[in-house]
Amino acid sequence: MTNLKMTTQSGDTTIIGQDAVEALAASLRGDLLTPATADYDEERSIWNAMIDKRPGLIVRCAGAADVIRAVNFARENTLLVAVRGIGHNIAGNAVCEGGLMISLSGMKSVRVDPRARTALVEPGVTLGDLDNETQAYGLSTPVGINSTTGIAGLTIGGGFGWLSRKYGLTIDNLISADVVTAAGELVKVREDENEDLFWGIRGGGGNFGVVTSFEFQLHPVGPEVLAGLIVHPFSEAGKVLRYYRQFAAESPDDLTTWVVLRKAPPLPFLPEEVHGTEVVILAALYAGNMAEGEKALAPLRAYGNPIADVIGPHPFTGFQAGFDPLLTPGFRNYWKSHDFLELNDETIDTAIRFTGSLPSPHCEIFIAQMGGATNRVSPDSTAYRHRDTEFIMNVHGRWEDSTEDDRCVSWCRELFTAMTPHATGGVYINFMTGEEQQRVQAAYGDSYGRLVELKNKYDPTNLFRLNQNIKPSI
Ligand SMILES: Cc1cc2nc3c(=O)[nH]c(=O)nc-3n(C[C@H](O)[C@H](O)[C@H](O)COP(=O)(O)OP(=O)(O)OC[C@H]3O[C@@H](n4cnc5c(N)ncnc54)[C@H](O)[C@@H]3O)c2cc1C
Repeated sequence: MTNLKMTTQSGDTTIIGQDAVEALAASLRGDLLTPATADYDEERSIWNAMIDKRPGLIVRCAGAADVIRAVNFARENTLLVAVRGIGHNIAGNAVCEGGLMISLSGMKSVRVDPRARTALVEPGVTLGDLDNETQAYGLSTPVGINSTTGIAGLTIGGGFGWLSRKYGLTIDNLISADVVTAAGELVKVREDENEDLFWGIRGGGGNFGVVTSFEFQLHPVGPEVLAGLIVHPFSEAGKVLRYYRQFAAESPDDLTTWVVLRKAPPLPFLPEEVHGTEVVILAALYAGNMAEGEKALAPLRAYGNPIADVIGPHPFTGFQAGFDPLLTPGFRNYWKSHDFLELNDETIDTAIRFTGSLPSPHCEIFIAQMGGATNRVSPDSTAYRHRDTEFIMNVHGRWEDSTEDDRCVSWCRELFTAMTPHATGGVYINFMTGEEQQRVQAAYGDSYGRLVELKNKYDPTNLFRLNQNIKPSI
């Protein structure tokens, strides 16, 4: 190993001597990867293939002690730092050019206490890993809808999925966490200990430190749930979405229904002539008693003339992974997202108009139904602010070849702009790209000032800057 050229927090180049690198490597229980190491390329690759960055060093941590060593090394050498959970975030901040990447992908322990209905979870765990362990006891907690997503990034941004209308956001089920601060100290955070930091990591992203352990509240779920898809012809989209809006407003908390507008994938239950044509997909999950779920879903299933209705009893873990085939890594992705209080006629018509001009067969518009328990928490009680959001729309641009970049990105931006007058102005930080720094303040609304104070206290030099960044004011 020779001396290394690395990037500092201010973007300059610095030389890290061979001795310092060797001493860091020797201190770790995990691995230190350089561009010459075998696993380097795998570790720096993330879900969004638009992002291709080469860190100077990667610490693949085996535990909290490695995280402390990596944070201290970065701070002492003023290095640019990226923190990777599973690397699913669209913005690509999990990896950096020339700096130090702290990878948590090897920290994969999940310890369930079935009697207390809690789980201790390390930050390299995927949502699928978590479900796998908790469902062994018929338990779960609200997380996202794609099982390969990382629990760490999802939680610190807020986190929502099929169980959220019943049990709240992922952060509403966070009991405590262990955090390594920029000073390299491991602290416990919960309601009665370091409560300011506990407030901040529930929605404030990776701005305040590296979370090395999460403790979640679990709830009885499944193992079978009533769930599935109803697929309608695109020609009926206007009527179906107007009916959906009414149905969603009257749904109990146990029931969550999302809308997906896209070209039909070649699913076995869809007639071949529908494959590759635009459709309206209603995806639903009832998180309670099966018979009551049948009653709650009956009106939606009776509406119109769907092409397919595959609502039925499904293993919960199966439905949690149901969208995985459409969300595999390796594609180029660009997202734009808005929060909504309602789906007014203009919103519905705009979504339909843009679905008529999808720039790639993999692009889609997702509308997640929020409300229920997610909105019964005071906006002040966690850093996730927008507790009045009823729907989150994600314009998901997704394509294979870089020659399609301009066309697909433009489609997303145009749709986003057309929707802006009808949206709240708020946004979920986990759906923001790397170029949306100007939206960070809006993402935190009235909590922004308190977050800046917290940043001043816990990370005054902005060591953790590769995220939807809250800048210190000192
Ligand atoms: C296909 C797809 C589907 C999704 N569906 C949902 C959904 O249904 N619901 C939902 O809520 N979200 C969803 N998301 C968004 C998801 O919550 C974010 O992408 C989340 O950041 C992923 O976490 P990660 O650990 O994999 O990400 P990473 O890219 O590894 O991390 C994201 C950022 O979080 C920070 N970070 C990560 N780990 C830590 C840590 N331990 N301590 C401190 N900071 C850390 C870093 O700043 C990092 O840049 C989805 C994303 C994708 C790509």
